[in-house]
Amino acid sequence: MHITPLNPKDEGHQARKRFGQNFLHDQRVIEKIVRSVNPKQGETVVEIGPGLAALTAPLISEVEHLTVVELDRDLAKGLPSRVPYPERLTIVEADALKYDFSQLVNENKPLRIVGNLPYNISTPLLFHLLTFGNAIQDMHFMLQKEVVERITAEPNSKEYGRLSVMIQYYCQATYLFEVPAGVFNPPPKVTSAVFRLVPYKDKPIIAKNEQKLAQLVAHVFTQRRKTLRNSLKNMLNDGAFERTGIDEMARPETLTLAEFVALADEMV
Ligand code: SAH
Repeated sequence: MHITPLNPKDEGHQARKRFGQNFLHDQRVIEKIVRSVNPKQGETVVEIGPGLAALTAPLISEVEHLTVVELDRDLAKGLPSRVPYPERLTIVEADALKYDFSQLVNENKPLRIVGNLPYNISTPLLFHLLTFGNAIQDMHFMLQKEVVERITAEPNSKEYGRLSVMIQYYCQATYLFEVPAGVFNPPPKVTSAVFRLVPYKDKPIIAKNEQKLAQLVAHVFTQRRKTLRNSLKNMLNDGAFERTGIDEMARPETLTLAEFVALADEMV
């Protein structure tokens, strides 16, 4: 295990690499994130991975109640002493990857989820969160910029791929701003970015079978340079391209979400 010492004001906690710990220490960036979230009284706000409370402290000043989900027991223990209104804090010591977030919904108020996420589990965590659908109002997260660009990418860009299509099937995804490595302790190797996901209450485009959509999208993007005709050989009903009006000579990065769904609906 690699241990990187933090500066003395972090009260001796040593960042644990296996928990993806990179702690924010720049007040301006912290305020910018909190302003993007814009939490209001009465909302149900949940933070994933509070760490040393960089975001937790300003968030808790804005709401009556804040729930945090933290895997590292030592950090969880230290949290009450690091926030201004500890009586407003509920600490859930759990793995966010396995946690049932729907149990935090009360009075039918969907969750607003926030986090500077552990980068090593970002993709499975996002897909786990997407399973809670209408229990979530929105999510504001920080991840590697490169991943955020893929999540928010539009067709015909080099970032557009499986992650873009699958996340955008469930959510509206917005790139917000970039965050340089130097504002973290220890600094990660890459530039980060903050983004917003708003799960659709009613999805604008619905696949007959979401598993088939996921399978098709994964398949065509592992063969990015192949035409759809070649990569989807024997996977679609006869006449699928004619019926959907999609050019069989096209490459996957040119297709919109609606077109992927149309093809997935033609899978045999
Ligand atoms: N929000 C803090 C810490 C970010 S580091 C800040 O911005 O400074 C990522 C945090 O996620 C750490 O506190 C780490 O312990 C926690 N974490 C890592 N894996 C987790 C998991 N599976 N479930 C919940 N928290 C996790």
